[in-house]
Amino acid sequence: MNSQFPILALNSNITQLIKKIPSADILDNIKEGLNNEIRFIDQDCPISDVAKIVKSPMDGKSYVSLSAAYCQYLWLMCSIIIKEIDLSVVMEECKRCGVTLEQFIEGTKQAVSLSQEQVLEQIPLEYKGINIEQYIDYLKRIPELLNIEEFCKLQKYYIKLLVELMEQETFNLGDFSAIDVNTPYGEKINSVYCFGICFILLHEASHFALGHLDKVSPAIQDEVEADFSSFGSIYSDISENEKFSANCGVLCALFSLLYLNPTIEPDNIHPTEDERIFKVYECIKNDNPKYIVILVQFFKYWAEIYQIIDFPPNLQNTEDSVDRIKDFLAEYKKIKA
Ligand SMILES: [Zn+2]
Repeated sequence: MNSQFPILALNSNITQLIKKIPSADILDNIKEGLNNEIRFIDQDCPISDVAKIVKSPMDGKSYVSLSAAYCQYLWLMCSIIIKEIDLSVVMEECKRCGVTLEQFIEGTKQAVSLSQEQVLEQIPLEYKGINIEQYIDYLKRIPELLNIEEFCKLQKYYIKLLVELMEQETFNLGDFSAIDVNTPYGEKINSVYCFGICFILLHEASHFALGHLDKVSPAIQDEVEADFSSFGSIYSDISENEKFSANCGVLCALFSLLYLNPTIEPDNIHPTEDERIFKVYECIKNDNPKYIVILVQFFKYWAEIYQIIDFPPNLQNTEDSVDRIKDFLAEYKKIKA
């Protein structure tokens, strides 16, 4: 029987990643008394508290406490949405080229057996500028993605696990041992996940660096600043070819907070989760059209999982849908207020 969440195997990847983000000044924070190591809570139970800075009574040093159950939660969300995005891209591609899904799969299977040069020759004109290794990786993931029956089964199972991670009554650690982080898809999901955790950790470290911890009463502005500082460090330090994964990770982390507070109850400390999501989304939306897909699909899943009443139906991945979601949220929060 597994005694811990499979996701903890990725801890060293996160440490490596944080080293790539010098503008977060983690080293300076450590000099100022922030303990270098992350202490995990919730190692065999549902999520109690996502992440926070705790001052140790022993040596007076501060350290980051991070929920292992939350890490698993975030990974599941990354997995669900990345597959959803890729599927929607493939579906659109099929429609555009007038081929069936089966023909598309057959085509990618053939392409995978070719050499890099041959793939380069056959690549569709609009992909000519693409990184060829990333493109071949993408082709390799296609069969796993397009086994629609398996796809739906796995998405449903992951959603069930998400719910388990929030509830003591249904929680069973053994259910998580079925998770495989080493599928052809794993690498991509793991990278997005690590950026998501990185965002959460740097958010906490920013509170430390910006002196928020010494304040008597927490202010909403502090939370806005911590988000901005964390996202800003990641966005400015990460190389172009990792930027998409990084931004996806930040969005996944922010959506995970929405899912953990699905009725958007204000806590009077943080801006509401949807406000935090849109703040980052506005900064990156022009970088890549796929961010619209993330936004729309995550909100659709939210409405479905938590049975949000009157959520707009039949949303496509368009700007117009984003506006409709914004209008809906404004009404939704007004009714609740
Ligand atoms: Zn905070």
